[in-house]
Amino acid sequence: MAGRKDQHGDSTRAVAAGRSKEWTGPVVNPPIWRASTHIYESEADRKAALSNNKDGQFYYGRRGAPTQWALAQALTELEPGAAGTVLYPSGVAAIAGALLAVLSPGDVLLLSDNSYEPSRSMGMGLLKRMGVETRFFDPLDLDAYRNLFCERTKCVWLEVPGSLTMEMCDVPELARIAREKGAICLIDNTWATSLGFPALQHGCDISVTSLTKHISGHSDLMMGAASAGEKLYRKLRITSQQLGQVVSPDDCALALRGLRTMPLRLERTMQSALQIADWLATREDVAHVLCPMRDGDAGYELWQRDFSGGCGLFSFVLKAQDEAARARLVDNLELFGIGYSWGGFESLALPFDVSRIRDAMAWPKPGWNSEDRLGVRLSIGLEDPADLIADLDRGFAAMRNP
Ligand SMILES: *Cc1c(COP(=O)(O)O)cnc(C)c1O
Repeated sequence: MAGRKDQHGDSTRAVAAGRSKEWTGPVVNPPIWRASTHIYESEADRKAALSNNKDGQFYYGRRGAPTQWALAQALTELEPGAAGTVLYPSGVAAIAGALLAVLSPGDVLLLSDNSYEPSRSMGMGLLKRMGVETRFFDPLDLDAYRNLFCERTKCVWLEVPGSLTMEMCDVPELARIAREKGAICLIDNTWATSLGFPALQHGCDISVTSLTKHISGHSDLMMGAASAGEKLYRKLRITSQQLGQVVSPDDCALALRGLRTMPLRLERTMQSALQIADWLATREDVAHVLCPMRDGDAGYELWQRDFSGGCGLFSFVLKAQDEAARARLVDNLELFGIGYSWGGFESLALPFDVSRIRDAMAWPKPGWNSEDRLGVRLSIGLEDPADLIADLDRGFAAMRNP
């Protein structure tokens, strides 16, 4: 049965994942179990539960109930190599929970320079206070990365593609070097999800995902997850229990609902994103399109080699424009909202300039005109791509004619 399941396509796997009869009963979806107290049959039962911290066992609300267990189980089934998944109240909580599970005072963390800004802040803030030293590295420079390891290097944090700037790095090689040096490799795999990039199969030890993005898909909940093999999963679980991390069963039911349609949404938004990226690349006022799924992008070869899917998230950089011009562009979009997050059914535009959130990687990039530095990240939703292109065209017209 397990062998056959593994051979199924992504959509089939996303429909079947976590739907064990034990959680669902006779209905299609697991019911929403709202519960703090779990009532025991007897004192002997209570004692048995106390001494046994296993998954999928009633104990007390902080360890969840079948709605949470079904979602965790679904995510584990979709991540080849995972023994279990811990759910967190946000993606950032998952990042913090995973790092706290493996780091101790005195350890060194190597953090990919193009990581999501809150991951960088975790390194410079809480982890620093805890006595962990964070060193930023350029994930495209393997030699510099190799030379950064020392006796105390406990783990490496990757994110692919890079936050906002969308660089593809060679994850299997970065993970292989980490392993050779005795370090644990963690990855923020929110962009591709385990369907587009099975991170544990590519050498990573812990895969972290913000479920707020593609798994929810509807901009109506916040949650995160971390999946790992048996040993590290136990550490994640214990640490999250000690931190008292819980997620609501209502949100889990929404996340499970989102999961069923995720492969469809990823495919559609990726195709729309490619159309829009091609259109942007033809424009005079666009200096660079940063989209690793697009032939000709610096990351395209690695994406083709390692990934089986993408999504609607990519960026572009304006040619020699100032912030006022960029504001005219985004303010005049009608179909794109200006906002954080991504992966919802609605399109979003987010202006960015990463000059102040990079230590080891130059911005603008080497070889670029120094005036080309203001970017816009687009999260392409489920609207018709022709309408989105017309909307962007309006925005560009407003940018050029104040
Ligand atoms: C949004 C995001 C997160 C954080 O997720 P939240 O659920 O918003 O806390 C982490 N990593 C990446 C790559 C993200 O885009």
